[in-house]
Amino acid sequence: MLDARRGLADRLERFLAHHHDKFLISQFIFLIVFVSIIFVPPFLGEPALEDTRYTHWGLFANYLLWSLWFPLVLISVVFTGRSWCGIFCPMGASSEWASRYGLHRPIPSWMRWEGTPHVSFLIITILGQTTGVREHPESVMLLFGGMFACAVLFGVLFAQGKRAWCRHTCPVGLLLGLFSRLGVVQFWPKRRAPGENRYAERGMCPTMIDINRKDESRHCIECFKCVHPESGGGQKMSFRRPGMEIEQIRHYNPNVMEVAFFFIGIGTALGGFLWLVLESYQEMRQNLGVWALSHGHSWIGGTGPSWLMSVHPERGEVFNWLDFILISGYMLVWAGGTAVVLGLATLASAYLAGSKAATGTLYQRFLELGYQYAPVCLVSLIIGLGYNLFLPLGYFGDSAPDIAKEVLLAMGLLWSVHLGNRILAEQNVRGFRRVMALLPGIAGSAATGFAWWIAIFGPPGAG
Ligand code: SF4
Ligand code: SF4
Repeated sequence: MLDARRGLADRLERFLAHHHDKFLISQFIFLIVFVSIIFVPPFLGEPALEDTRYTHWGLFANYLLWSLWFPLVLISVVFTGRSWCGIFCPMGASSEWASRYGLHRPIPSWMRWEGTPHVSFLIITILGQTTGVREHPESVMLLFGGMFACAVLFGVLFAQGKRAWCRHTCPVGLLLGLFSRLGVVQFWPKRRAPGENRYAERGMCPTMIDINRKDESRHCIECFKCVHPESGGGQKMSFRRPGMEIEQIRHYNPNVMEVAFFFIGIGTALGGFLWLVLESYQEMRQNLGVWALSHGHSWIGGTGPSWLMSVHPERGEVFNWLDFILISGYMLVWAGGTAVVLGLATLASAYLAGSKAATGTLYQRFLELGYQYAPVCLVSLIIGLGYNLFLPLGYFGDSAPDIAKEVLLAMGLLWSVHLGNRILAEQNVRGFRRVMALLPGIAGSAATGFAWWIAIFGPPGAG
């Protein structure tokens, strides 16, 4: 079995390393697809009532983007790592291409700050909701076109032959990098230099990895530039157990910003689903609206610019400042709530794990245990975003799509619990203490899973 796995990895590695210069072809094909999905639909007429995704390009483009591309790319990180980034993504490829001919300025420190992609994730996620990115092609063009423009602009401005945008700013890359730690693909230096993971603005790696000291997966976009099967240097591609990097996260450069993403970023995305289904949102909207008007803040009923909020009278949707403030605020409140719940659960786990035999400080244990939520968060995002992906299962019965989603969510939850157990084992927490330390983590994963369950299926008793 092990030999078969190694053989398959070797064959794939040889094939992709020998053809990595042809990735340009796939990136160019996806550039054409990207342009036709992002930039064409806003200029088409409104679909007629009887139109379907097979008769109207705008509807088909929306289906491709939200029902296929997003969930499938998220699923792919588990099986193929960040292959989307290195082999297919036209945005990253354009950024790298632009940086070959650009100004080659050093990457500024604000951009190199670990929190920058998190800020860009928050902005894109919130704007996505307030502008209605899942419904309106104009919003898709604004957000995805804006990201594309920034990717190229950052390429023109910073570094030479690199992907400053991908490493430091891309919100999609942030998600893929984080979840690639769960994946089965690993690149490892054939001759590892002593010392820790280092940032290398000079060198062959487009995402600034010092390839001789590489450990974590998250920044590796699988471009295969450093893979030379015939030579004794560079990186070797291999397959590993899913989740292995997180089980042994201590040796793979754990990062407080990534843990913050599980606590805050995922909560923001969750809020983006919950405002659509929870009564509390409507109640708050009503109460705040009445309060604002009775206190003379009538501006709150006015409409703002269409790059901030959905203004589509032709489709019967016009948001005002009240909607904008409340949707953003509601998402941020959920982000804060998730941060408090998961933060406290993780702190309790880390504290309970403390014993004479346990390794690491309280902070180290906290940081490592924060990664246990990765599977439940990944699965929740896939199910939440990939609503239509499950519809074909309706062939097996009306309830089959929902059953499949529930089973997947349960699997994500169990995987999180398993990871929590393995991380504690790596921290040398044994016996009854390990069971006790595991319980708060289970509660945190269950709370996350339950909140997503409501976001996906609606509140219990509703509809
Ligand atoms: S990081 Fe973003 S822009 Fe870069 S390759 Fe990945 S998805 Fe594309
Ligand atoms: S480590 Fe190698 S395969 Fe990964 S992004 Fe850098 S150069 Fe490409």
